[in-house]
Order: sequence, then structure tokens, then C-alpha cells
Amino acid sequence: MPKLHTAWGGKVYLSPDELQADLMLRAMKKDDLKVVERGRPVSGMHFFDAKPWIENSTVFEALKLMPKGAILHLHNSAAVSSSWVIKNLTYRAEAKLCNVEERYYFTVRPLSYCPENQTRPISQLRKERKDDIDTFDTWLESLINMKMKPTRTGHASTEELWIDFESCFDAMKGFLQYKPFFEAYHRQLLHEFYSDRVYYIELRMSFAKVFDADGREYGPPEVAYMLHRLADEFRHQWPSFHGIKLILAKHRNMTDGELEKALQLYDSLSATFPGFVVGFDLVGQEDINRSLKSFASLLVQPPVSSGPPKYFFHAGEIVGYFTEGDENVVDAVLLDTKRIGHGYALMKHPILWHAIRRKQIAIEVCPISNQVLGLVHDLRNHPASFFVAQNIPITITSDDPGFWDAFGVSFDYYYAFMAIAPQSGLGFLKQLVWDSIRYSSLSDGERQNITSTMEKQWALFVRQLVAGNSTVTE
Ligand SMILES: [Zn+2]
Repeated sequence: MPKLHTAWGGKVYLSPDELQADLMLRAMKKDDLKVVERGRPVSGMHFFDAKPWIENSTVFEALKLMPKGAILHLHNSAAVSSSWVIKNLTYRAEAKLCNVEERYYFTVRPLSYCPENQTRPISQLRKERKDDIDTFDTWLESLINMKMKPTRTGHASTEELWIDFESCFDAMKGFLQYKPFFEAYHRQLLHEFYSDRVYYIELRMSFAKVFDADGREYGPPEVAYMLHRLADEFRHQWPSFHGIKLILAKHRNMTDGELEKALQLYDSLSATFPGFVVGFDLVGQEDINRSLKSFASLLVQPPVSSGPPKYFFHAGEIVGYFTEGDENVVDAVLLDTKRIGHGYALMKHPILWHAIRRKQIAIEVCPISNQVLGLVHDLRNHPASFFVAQNIPITITSDDPGFWDAFGVSFDYYYAFMAIAPQSGLGFLKQLVWDSIRYSSLSDGERQNITSTMEKQWALFVRQLVAGNSTVTE
């Protein structure tokens, strides 16, 4: 282990106020680490079991107050808490549920894979269960929440977990294709992250078509415009929020022809919305889907005049070693990715460490996601501890918090602070928060604006820590 000051966050300047806040935070941390269950601190527990303990922790209270800057890895359809979806969208008159061969899908109109005679209004289903609506709603929520699936036992394989995980996306898809739901959902998304003190978001999404109550369809540019408008309205209401940018993310499970089309779609979206649609990514389980290498010729030379997009690849979200999927992390760097989603496998590829530091490719670390999807059970074993020790740039982010009973990004920060860097103090958090802006796709002008918001919010946070309460205001 290198000396602490050489690790990530070890060289951050702390003002006298911050030094005092650091002492308070370290004292809280020490107290929190004393809370053990079966000999294990809360930071060593699985999130599904640890959540009530975390919610009671003073460190978590402080992290909730902390301004987090930017969130750089988030999938739109899994970002909002499942309880909101159930309590709001499923209670709207248009909400329906479709059932095909033991699979359930939320929808508003009949889906191609879900015939009308197997689609029923949720209000009707709820009426039939009027004596036990809570149980019915809990069951509905289990369709989009990994914590409520049978695989939560801790013995499920990666394959089983991914099947459940992708079933959550499939279940949500139909709701997000309906314009009124799409808009309400994304407003809630902004609300949940802003109330967790996130000031800017880079959102990955597939740009699926949306339709309205009259059956009119909206293609990808209109969907981008809808989100642009929603974010603008939100900023108008909350001026310290600095907006969103979009990354087109398509499932790896596709043909060369489909990738070609996706790259052309990105090209036209980024030309129509410069500075708003800012990157391209491929998603899905790496062990079983096509590798970056298999797409290399198209990714190096896309069939578009403006050259390759900015890539933000998911890569190395895997436990295998020297499998084709594991090599994605090498190929992502060769393809000049700007950041790496997860990069869990990076520790096994020493040849990349230097290149990643030199090229300043930040690793988007999603601790709870990696735990829920079975890469690591005890987050004290997460390879991000190694990244921190080796000064490999990281950013903490929450991936799909709505699908596992989390909210915003504070829970992930808790694990980063308590499990990944248990020796760290305020300097580590300060580095993470400011680096989230540094490694973002914000323009110079946008960076200046968010920096001035963050400076004010950070100073307030430090005052709150020193005063030992959250009632200190501007
Ligand atoms: Zn992801």
C-alpha cells in the first residue's frame, strides 16, 4: 500500500475550515466502522441488507448533504426509484400490464411481443385484488426491482442475475414509450438526483420511439428535444442545476448492420444537438454478447463523414480473465474511449494502468451495481481500492439505482468512502466531486458555471459539517 498522500485524493488542498470538517468526518467514520453485525462493519454488508443500517449512519447523513457535482454513468430507464414508478405511473388510468409466458411488461398500448388479449388495465387488476392492494403493488414492484427477485438470495450466478436485470428493463420499456409517462418519469429523474445534490447528469439511453395519446410517434431527434426541453424547464425552476447531456447507448447484441445504423443515428443526433448528444456506448452483459473487437472495423471507421464518435464504453464489467469479454477493457482504450464504464477487470491488465493515467481516462465506478450483479459480494474487495491506491482516475456513479432500491448516488458514495477507501477523509471526497466535473463532457463555459455553483455549495457543506448540523444555510 503506498503512503496515503500518494493515493487518490491524498494531495488535495484543504482549507482550515475543511481541515476541521475533515476531523469531524473522520470521527463519524470511526464511529460508523464500529457498528458491526456478525463481526462485519456495515460497509462489508450487501446493500440489500445494509440499507437500513446505512440510512441510520451519520456518515450517510453527511454524504447526502454533500454536493456531488456530476453523475457520469446513469441509464435513464433504470434511474428512478421503483417505488415512484409503482405509486405514480401504475396508478394512472392508461397503465396496463401484459403477460406473455411468465414474463410481465408494463405498457400503455399493445406491444408487438405482447398481444392485446394478454394486456389488461392495471386499475382493473388492482380492483380484483382490492383486499390486498399492498401485496399486489409489492408484486408489481418486483418486476422492476432486483431486491425483490428470488435471485437476491446471494447464491445466484451472474447469468441468472443478468436475466433478472434485463427483465427489469424489458418490463419498463413500454411505459417509457408513452409521452406523458416519459415526461413525468424524466422530471422525477431530475428531481431525485437534484435532491441528492447532483448538479449535472450524463445520461445513457437508447432513444427508443415515443408515442402520445393520439398515437403520434416521435423519433430520436424529437425524443432528444423533449429531454432538452424538460431539462431546461427544470433548470428554470432550480437554477443551480446545470442540465443533462445524452450518450446514445445500444445493446451489444446486434449485427454489423444494426451497429452501422446506430453509428449513423449518433452522427445525425450529434450534428442536430451539438453539445447535448455527446457520446456513444454499447451495453449488455459482456460474457455472452459481442465484444468490442468483433465490431472493431466499424467502430474505428464508422460509415459517417464526421469520423468516430466520442466513445464512453462499458468495458471490463466482468469476472472472467482473458476471455473475449474481458479484453473489451483493452480494446476500449485502443478505441480511444473517453471514460470506461465499470472497468472492473482493469486490475488484471497492468499494461493499461499507465496508459489510462497518461490519457486521463476516468473509470466510472458503480459499487452497488457491481455488487447487485454478482461481481463482488463484499465491497471492501472492490478493485476501485486498487485504482485509488494507484492514482487511476475514478468517478463514483450509480448506474441503475432505481432497479435496486437505491436513490440518487449517496449510497454509492457511502460504499466508496467506507469500503473502497476506508482510510480516506474529506480530501478523497473533494477529489471525487471535483473530478466528476473534470472528466465530464461539459464545455469550458459550462464548467465555469457549474464550478461557481459547486464552490458555493461546497463551502456551505463544509460549514454544515463543522457546525455539526444541516440547518446552516446560505
Ligand atoms: Zn451501465
